[in-house]
Amino acid sequence: MSPTATPSATPSASQPLQLHRRVAPAALQGPWTVDAIQALLEKPLMDLLFEAQTVHRQHWPAGDIELATLLSVKTGGCPENCGYCPQAAEFDTGVKAEKLMKLDEVVRAAQAAKDAGATRFCMGAAWRAPKDRDIEKVSALIGAVKGLGLQTCATLGMLESHQAQALKDAGLDYYNHNLDTAPEYYTDVVSTRAYQDRLDTLQHVRSAGISVCCGGIVGMGEAPVHRAGLIAQLANLQPYPESVPINSLVRVPGTPLADSEPVDPFDFVRVIAVARITMPKARVRLSAGRQQMGEAVQALCFMAGANSIFYGDKLLVTGNPDVQADVQLLAKLGLNGHRTTTTEADDLHAHAQSQGVCA
Ligand code: SF4
Repeated sequence: MSPTATPSATPSASQPLQLHRRVAPAALQGPWTVDAIQALLEKPLMDLLFEAQTVHRQHWPAGDIELATLLSVKTGGCPENCGYCPQAAEFDTGVKAEKLMKLDEVVRAAQAAKDAGATRFCMGAAWRAPKDRDIEKVSALIGAVKGLGLQTCATLGMLESHQAQALKDAGLDYYNHNLDTAPEYYTDVVSTRAYQDRLDTLQHVRSAGISVCCGGIVGMGEAPVHRAGLIAQLANLQPYPESVPINSLVRVPGTPLADSEPVDPFDFVRVIAVARITMPKARVRLSAGRQQMGEAVQALCFMAGANSIFYGDKLLVTGNPDVQADVQLLAKLGLNGHRTTTTEADDLHAHAQSQGVCA
């Protein structure tokens, strides 16, 4: 986004509306300041939605929604203490610790996800940081899932640089590692690692040439300035992530954040819109919490520029709308979920690359 973009007089199909006409010049400067992002968050909602949708259409085909499926390949027993997570060993949430799934089980799940229309398959493991022997096993999973014609994503905890390189060599397309919230609020959420640890892993992933999936969670008791701080961190990464999952906290009994005040749905929509405006080429993913949102709020999120959802009945260990409900919702809204064929995936990839991002 150029800070010097000149507002167009009248928008038309051939001359898209310049998005910056209603944004104060200071907000257009990069890097993004927390103040500038907070100013966006505070705009009248209709103005914010209009701007976000305008940015969206300048960078993405209208109505295009990526369907990603997430499988927990190694559940529970995690030594970290993320306050939102039912998989932390120290919280009594009823989640049982399990071993890494076998290759044939993962391939079956990936094939089912592909048959249901997913284009990307994400594998999550509840580790603080995988050992090298874990990386070897996950590399085999990555190769097998890729062999089905799916894009691959993994979220395994903190990585060292040689581990990131090994995953790249195995064919990993994306690595997910969320920043969760602003640095100033981080210690209220987790104390077993530092914000800088997250940034270091993200750097290793980037250096290995793996695309970055990185976002955060809204509704953990954070102040609006922390939401702005999270978006500033994400938008100022060089380059910003290709995928940005925005989660609404699922308040799981037994976790320290179980009694958090529910987030106002419009505030959640605002965060999606500001993610879209500040990271125009990123896939902004409407992630956890959709089950509690209802269709109207999800529709507003798509209006705000979300163009990816997690698809499937479960998100790691929390619930997600069932596949049929999602199919119906997308149809009602006239949105196109990606139906997977290799050709369509290739076309999408080519399109995204032509816009300077991976799909
Ligand atoms: S979010 Fe990840 S790192 Fe944190 S406790 Fe859960 S599984 Fe462990």
